[in-house]
Amino acid sequence: MAALDADSLNAVIDRLRTTEGVVWVTGAGLSVASGISPYRKSKDAVWENFITDWGTAARFKSDPKTWYQRFWFAAHPGLTGDGLDAKPNAGHRALTAIVRARPNHHIITQNIDGLHGDSGTPSKRLVEIHGRHDTFVCPNPTCSMAKTPVTGISLKGVDDGDLPECDMCGAVLRPLVLLFDEYYDSQPFYRAREARNWLNDAAAVVFVGTSFSVGITSMALHAAQASGAAIININPEPLVDHDAINLMAPAELALPALAAQLIPAAP
Ligand SMILES: [Zn+2]
Repeated sequence: MAALDADSLNAVIDRLRTTEGVVWVTGAGLSVASGISPYRKSKDAVWENFITDWGTAARFKSDPKTWYQRFWFAAHPGLTGDGLDAKPNAGHRALTAIVRARPNHHIITQNIDGLHGDSGTPSKRLVEIHGRHDTFVCPNPTCSMAKTPVTGISLKGVDDGDLPECDMCGAVLRPLVLLFDEYYDSQPFYRAREARNWLNDAAAVVFVGTSFSVGITSMALHAAQASGAAIININPEPLVDHDAINLMAPAELALPALAAQLIPAAP
């Protein structure tokens, strides 16, 4: 593993040390060190097409059992709804320490794995804008449970036709995750308005392990450009075509180094 570039690291530290409102936008790269494959785990076109074709509410509605079997389990290996074996890594722990030490820092994550919360980030400082793998909801828009998150659901019986059902109307429950034919405002659980407010008020936006291929990264970049907020990119790949400070490193290496400088008693 290459060492962190000292000039880039110091540039990020200098900016974050003096900046008040900071929004951290995190993506799949942060959880790779926890053993979780990125949602789009390859650049293979067949896989990409499969994900975008099957990862929709329309597909779920037409055949929930096949949707779980063909799409959900295949696209999210290890996410059975019965808890996740993966644990937060050094990157999650360092970012949690930074956010806990600095009241004006918030996290918006694309990740559905729940690892920010597992590492101790307070929920009021964290928006899981793509939802959570272990939280479900009734897909029936006329049901009184249509906006109510449900937890404690097992998917172990899906292959035998034992699908999780809504207690109120009997519809098959779906994971409370943003699908490709949906919008951030489709569920209050995503807290999209809160995320936008944080971005609009931010003096710096820090991208960590993001692929820049999903809506929230575009939203965050636009907000930063509109407000003049600093753009910081912590990723193995640089963010080009933007006036960004690039710290090209994996999150589990970069975040502990930042925490060590930004807070006195960092882990
Ligand atoms: Zn229902």
